[in-house]
Amino acid sequence: MTIAEKETIGCPACKVEQDVDVYQTINAMENPELVSKLMAGEINVFKCAGCGHVAQIHTPLLFNDHRMDLKIQFYPEHLLVENPGYVFKDYLRMLKEMEKFRQEYGLFMPDSNKPGNQLVVFSMKEMVSQIRFRTGLFEMAKSGLED
Ligand SMILES: [Zn+2]
Repeated sequence: MTIAEKETIGCPACKVEQDVDVYQTINAMENPELVSKLMAGEINVFKCAGCGHVAQIHTPLLFNDHRMDLKIQFYPEHLLVENPGYVFKDYLRMLKEMEKFRQEYGLFMPDSNKPGNQLVVFSMKEMVSQIRFRTGLFEMAKSGLED
């Protein structure tokens, strides 16, 4: 499931406020258009309608692609440095949720929901590179070209 919240953000440059969709989770199968935006560096980015200022919104993001059993959690690097307790707790909460999910759905669980089968990254660039890398491998295996 894709999860987003509308937030009112003030431009760091000109202070004009505007509503921005801030994504917490992106489900690649439900919203392939959001994957394209993510790859283009346009997710959780503030673009000021007033002055054109562009800024990254530093907030955790979970990327889910069940088709290739891929789950990538992004935490902003500064959050890990300044508030590591939050990152550890949030990560453990995610593992707990997956465990609950597995008990409910058992065999139908994709591998990415097994603890340890998901990636954690600390930059959006790394998330994009991981998606590019994993998608490439997946497409290669699907077309039988890996031999
Ligand atoms: Zn502005």
